[in-house]
Amino acid sequence: MTAHVHAAQCEFSFLSCSSSTFVETRRCTCTTFGRGAQRRAKRSAVKLVDRAARGFAELLTPDGYNPKTKKGRARGYSSAILHFAPATLSGLNVCQFASPECRAACLNTAGHGGIALDAAGLNDVQRARIARLNYYRYHRPEFWALLVAAIQAHVRRALKHGLTPVVRLNGTSDLPWERLRMLDRRTIFEAFPEIQFYDYTKDPRRAIAWARGEMPANYHLTFSRSEVNDADVRDVLAAGGNVAVVFDCGQKHDYALMPELWSGRRVINGDADDLRFLDPAGVVVGLSAKGRAIGMGSDTGFVLSARAA
Ligand code: SF4
Repeated sequence: MTAHVHAAQCEFSFLSCSSSTFVETRRCTCTTFGRGAQRRAKRSAVKLVDRAARGFAELLTPDGYNPKTKKGRARGYSSAILHFAPATLSGLNVCQFASPECRAACLNTAGHGGIALDAAGLNDVQRARIARLNYYRYHRPEFWALLVAAIQAHVRRALKHGLTPVVRLNGTSDLPWERLRMLDRRTIFEAFPEIQFYDYTKDPRRAIAWARGEMPANYHLTFSRSEVNDADVRDVLAAGGNVAVVFDCGQKHDYALMPELWSGRRVINGDADDLRFLDPAGVVVGLSAKGRAIGMGSDTGFVLSARAA
């Protein structure tokens, strides 16, 4: 085998390389490409195999793919988000406190998640979210290992660009990560004590525990209002927590339509970025309706009519 033919195999079909050196040592001796190119080829080949086996390419959506998290860069942060199939979409309920209207208006349908859906209401983004959740459900040890590796990679990438890495694990779910333990009995927050994690939740007990300082120091929670939890909203605000409220600001997301006050609290623009852990305490985080939620505004529903608020 000439060096050139061998190199082509490394670059385009690394895993099928049959040179005796590679088979015995798992190390390519090709001389046309350098070690860096060989490593990149190996990584991309392994990624293709992993993607086919698992049904998703990346566990965390990296900074740059989500327009809202991208805005955090201006403040020096890089956000990575874990997206599962929400509510009971995959058969496992990952949103215990979901309401009928939040299910209907879920962010899951915003952006790429809502484009070119097939007859089953799915596209590649939706299928990847179901596959990630199935991986969490049926391959828990491998899931934890992959999550740790994904956070480590996110940290490396962010630091390389001079940004502070932060992580949101409930992009489209509402799991109690502070209670989920890896094989070594640590939570993911304990495994990365220097990383800021943040989430929204509709679980009033979690939101109030956070407001009382009973959550991990590197975890921030914002309570999320729905059409069925007004009493919880009052309790969370009284405990000192923040509450996110969705307002229908139309297709053009006209933030001028958002009220200045809601329930006696100052409304801040929660779409300016996704960095909830930087919000002042005791505010309402106004979010403009997205995806299917646009046009759902009413006086009492999950999506509030902005003008009427
Ligand atoms: S709780 Fe949040 S993630 Fe779950 S269905 Fe409702 S809006 Fe979607």
